[in-house]
Amino acid sequence: VTHSRVAAVTGANKGIGLAIVRNLALQYPKSSLHSGGFLIYLTARSAERGAEAVNTLNNDPQLKQAKVLAQDGGDTTITFKELDISKTKSIKDFSKFLKQEHPDGLDIVINNAGIALQGFSSDLVKETVETNYYGTLEATQDLLPMLKSGGRLVNVSSMAGSLKKYSDEVRDAFLQASKTDVPAVTAIMERFKSAVAEGKEKEAGFPSAGYAVSKAGETAFTKVLAMEESKRGRNILINACCPGYVKTDMTRGGGAKTPDEGARTPVMLALDDIGGRTGGFWQSEKEIEW
Ligand code: NDP
Repeated sequence: VTHSRVAAVTGANKGIGLAIVRNLALQYPKSSLHSGGFLIYLTARSAERGAEAVNTLNNDPQLKQAKVLAQDGGDTTITFKELDISKTKSIKDFSKFLKQEHPDGLDIVINNAGIALQGFSSDLVKETVETNYYGTLEATQDLLPMLKSGGRLVNVSSMAGSLKKYSDEVRDAFLQASKTDVPAVTAIMERFKSAVAEGKEKEAGFPSAGYAVSKAGETAFTKVLAMEESKRGRNILINACCPGYVKTDMTRGGGAKTPDEGARTPVMLALDDIGGRTGGFWQSEKEIEW
């Protein structure tokens, strides 16, 4: 079977990631991208949880009723592939597999995987930055070259990484880095980690919040890569977004939106006509200030 469109979503076994896969399948037939068979890689770090999630979607009443899946006469197939974004080998294995399987490239990559750990310590900050910043960056850098012309890359970042939370100095550093290059953004992440290790993040102008800073870094590098791809003349739209405050395991019972509602902006950035906009930060289906 050949698929004219291929998408990959990270951290998709539950929460917003699972809802993103579900809504990609539901909306693809009416989208501007629609053109024959659509293959969605639902990826997860656990093979067991990932396979279970694919099974859930294959039996989802709404997907069944809409007849969007190939098994029900539609043109979309959802398949599982293991991907742990905190492990270089896992990222390499996944991108190698995709290169072999899809030599013509991919259409959509949505980096949704992320962690929010309870508490604040140097170790917790390191782990958070490792996954949310370095892991997402590495997956993005490996998969981005595989995107076809007209492709979309969406990073599910957060309003928690809004620049309002920083000293003028750190805010300016983020803004400057987002117009410079990836190493400039990475340098801020390293500065933050060192400051936390010394118990001096406040003096250095950062909040005592690993999650927030990792997400500011994610938004910053997304802007850098969008700028770089545009300069190269590659027609790929690269955007970061906040899904809103969503009821998932991450928010432990909190949250105002359902996962389907949280998936709306990322799915829009992947499938809809967004007027060619790239390098933006979006929330509630609108481009907003970072
Ligand atoms: P969940 O905790 O429900 O889901 C997170 C997903 O990421 C899970 O599938 C988890 O897998 C996966 N994941 C975690 N670490 C890794 C890893 N190293 N490799 C691969 N997958 C991994 O959270 P949400 O659905 O709420 O969050 C999704 C994204 O949205 C995150 O990036 C989050 O920061 C962002 N976000 C969420 C908000 C909210 O209100 N919920 C608000 C703003 C942003 P596993 O099941 O194996 O742990």
